[in-house]
Amino acid sequence: MNNLSKEIQFVKGIGPKRANKLNKLGIFTLKDLIYYFPRQYEDRSNIKKITQLENDEKASIKGIITRMDTYSPKKGMNITKIDVRDESGYIRLVFFNQEYITKVFKSGDSILAYGKVKIENNFKELSSCEIEHYTNAPQSTCKIQPVYPLTYGLTNKELESIIKSVLLKEEFKVKEYLPRYIIEKYKLCGIDYAIRNIHNPTSKDALKIALYRLVFEEFLVLQLGLFYFKSGVNESNGIEFKENEKLNDIVNSLPFKLTKAQNRALDEILEDMQSSKVMNRLVQGDVGSGKTVVALLSLASGVLNGYQGALMAPTEILASQHYESFKETLETFNIKSELLVGSLTKKQKDKVLEKVKNQEIDILIGTHALIEDKVEFKNLGIVITDEQHRFGVRQRGRLSNKGDSPDILVMTATPIPRTLALILYGDLDISIIDELPPGRQPIETIAIEHKRRSEAYENLVRDEVKKGRQVYVVCPLVDESEKIEATAAVELVEELKREFFSDLRVGLLHGKMKPSEKDSIMDDFKNKRLDILVSTTVIEVGVNVPNATLMIIENAERFGLAQLHQLRGRVGRGKHKSYCILIYNSKTEVCKERMSIMEETTDGFKISQKDLEIRGPGEFFGTRQHGIPELKVANIFKHMKILKLAQIEARYIIGQDVKLQLEENKKLKEEILYKFSEREEISLN
Ligand code: ADP
Ligand code: MG
Repeated sequence: MNNLSKEIQFVKGIGPKRANKLNKLGIFTLKDLIYYFPRQYEDRSNIKKITQLENDEKASIKGIITRMDTYSPKKGMNITKIDVRDESGYIRLVFFNQEYITKVFKSGDSILAYGKVKIENNFKELSSCEIEHYTNAPQSTCKIQPVYPLTYGLTNKELESIIKSVLLKEEFKVKEYLPRYIIEKYKLCGIDYAIRNIHNPTSKDALKIALYRLVFEEFLVLQLGLFYFKSGVNESNGIEFKENEKLNDIVNSLPFKLTKAQNRALDEILEDMQSSKVMNRLVQGDVGSGKTVVALLSLASGVLNGYQGALMAPTEILASQHYESFKETLETFNIKSELLVGSLTKKQKDKVLEKVKNQEIDILIGTHALIEDKVEFKNLGIVITDEQHRFGVRQRGRLSNKGDSPDILVMTATPIPRTLALILYGDLDISIIDELPPGRQPIETIAIEHKRRSEAYENLVRDEVKKGRQVYVVCPLVDESEKIEATAAVELVEELKREFFSDLRVGLLHGKMKPSEKDSIMDDFKNKRLDILVSTTVIEVGVNVPNATLMIIENAERFGLAQLHQLRGRVGRGKHKSYCILIYNSKTEVCKERMSIMEETTDGFKISQKDLEIRGPGEFFGTRQHGIPELKVANIFKHMKILKLAQIEARYIIGQDVKLQLEENKKLKEEILYKFSEREEISLN
């Protein structure tokens, strides 16, 4: 028996010190360890004849030791040379500071070796090599060698041997959790075989079989989980909203004319709302394309039909901004909006909840607070999630469960490739707002090296402020914690005041501030009582202050491209020309490439695509972006066929057993809950 939830430090042969290193790789339990898969493999299984070796290649050879020699060219250095021959020729193996080799091997021994070939004047040498006695079960040479993703402090060899030591234990067996009927139907190997062979493949075929099983399983669990959490929704039993003249009055009261793209999206939404099918639509529109007003009109249309609506946003700042603009537009039409956020007092909250329950409030706007159990609607007809990539799958599901099959709309500025959208939402419809409101001037982006930082502050900032404009300064992203990030922000404000702007009004916004403090700072900035707002990434999404025309991002190399794009979208929201200065402090090629992408394009779709190329799908589709479990081996591009199979199977399973209660699906359900639960926490931050 083995308990996969066992903490790694208590596993025999690992101990606290190694456990510490493993923790850095995100490995805490035995399960984490055996599911920590190699990033790639080095195929060393092909033994080459010595005469066939080519310069600079890495290769495995087999031969007999003919001569050995160790000498010390200088103090602290020791070179061992071993001459080896096979039936075709000779090669010399060279080792630095590995004296023990002379104790383990001797002339006449049969050996296997793997290393890098150097050929000069027909003389062959094998360097950086690994050597072992010839057996039928080679340990490091002549096999398919796993290569793990690592951080400092832990070598590939060490990790490999830790994993092997666990897997090789007699009693260690990973228990199957896929139902037998699935294993048989898709001819999958067992999980124990798959895990063993992904870490220590006995052959190329074995590796293939193992991978296939693991890829299938990852897709199945992902897809089934998504269906499972969505299962409350009866897709054919939607509300049939009616057209209402008054909506036109609201449209006409807006201070601007809707763009063609906004009109098209709105039409598509209204058509969905009027049909009996439950709307399940994603609105993709680049930063600043005007998604909010589309949300407002959709919600208003629901209210004009006698229903309530809800709008969930990822931050309090954004929620209250939406609330302000809704109130301004809708109050005259007697549509009542209210704000529900974590920072309200209990008394305030209770009052709001009471009114929502009685339908004295038509549109409830808020953060995650909306999905708490005590929030009850009388008649919820439409649910909108803004910046949906910030929420987990379960959170979105929970909001729509507060109504009886309400229509669902999600909005995002981070475009999702069609294939991923299909996985995430099944038969999701997509509206695209591919047009910015008229009069916008493209944001000019300039990347500068850190050493030119003060120029940016001295000249650019001052110029903008002189013109009556306002400026954002975004602090470096700090991974460790919001607290450290906040400290960095405080320091930056002090520096800016001291060094550059003793005469200007500089404000500070960070995640550790009380919501009321945040509100009042945002209010000051909106009402031009501040010239410069220094902020952490709390302003990343949604914030709308059209008079802000310059954004300076410090240590821009630490941000993802999509994130830079979101941040940059805080400027260029009004009629004035806007600028974004990226200050970077890195000389790597990747950094330069990323910076120049940001300089060259302001098209969010293109940027997203590039981000995908640079970071790879694994990270891009990971939890942070979309609230779904990480895919470790499966790749939605590469394994499209397997994905489709898994999708069909998942749909079938959920059709038979909506709640996954059948005995045969029990273990699978546990796995789904496990995979989706750890993710939820992250997306709640
Ligand atoms: P996002 O799509 O990034 O959420 P917003 O909805 O916040 O964008 O809109 C950005 C700004 O554009 C807001 O100030 C909004 O009032 C304005 N806006 C939206 N639609 C139009 C339009 N059709 N014409 C002019 N301005 C518009
Ligand atoms: Mg928005």
